[in-house]
Amino acid sequence: MDSLNKLIDYGNRTLEVGSYRDYCPNGLQIAGRDDIQTLVTGVTASARFLDAAIEAGADAVLVHHGYFWKGESSAIVGMKYQRIRRLIQNNIGLLAYHLPLDCHPEFGNNAQLAKRFGLNVIAQHSAGEVDGLLWEGELPDSESGAQFIARISGALDRKCLVVGHQEREIKRVAWCSGGGQRFLNNAVALGVDAYISGEISEQTTHEAQEQGVLYIAAGHHASERYGVQAFGAHLASRFDINHKHIDIDNPA
Ligand SMILES: [Zn+2]
Repeated sequence: MDSLNKLIDYGNRTLEVGSYRDYCPNGLQIAGRDDIQTLVTGVTASARFLDAAIEAGADAVLVHHGYFWKGESSAIVGMKYQRIRRLIQNNIGLLAYHLPLDCHPEFGNNAQLAKRFGLNVIAQHSAGEVDGLLWEGELPDSESGAQFIARISGALDRKCLVVGHQEREIKRVAWCSGGGQRFLNNAVALGVDAYISGEISEQTTHEAQEQGVLYIAAGHHASERYGVQAFGAHLASRFDINHKHIDIDNPA
């Protein structure tokens, strides 16, 4: 058994939560029991995820998308109350790491995507006033747009939405997990052949087409499945606790 406080302390230091101005609190969001044997990770602390975590015997849960987002009502009512009630009634703590778990050079979503996609990392750039959020890398050998699309879809086991110049030869690319479509122009400025993020907006199609790049919307959920898993596995080995990842599929 290990204590929740030790996990939080280590997590906050490792992911350097103090160096981010985020849209939500990072670290412990809801307190819970102190003795931790089983840590359950997931992308989003939704009701379905929490029910599955309770079923799996979670002592604490660790997610990428927690609660208390900037701009939302701070009242704990409705859906938010039902979620928080599940945690408190079961005495399960909620740890959430948002931007720190996108940017971390080893455990972050983008670092994990590089591994899955077979990309060699060149640099981490700032985007949206967040240092290290936009990643740049390259394939060992260039390949056709069709091959590259198949590579990304295969790595995520998902059909991706693709716009822009699909016939372009691909060598150097940029990516940002989640809702990073607004950084497409930052990627274009880097001179890459393709840009990958999770979501797509109406204007993304035109921006990609008119600037001659390939854009892949790989899924917000799908592109953020791996950071929390990698960090959960790391915590489990470091603190000798059980780790279980629960994927609640999401088409978005
Ligand atoms: Zn996200």
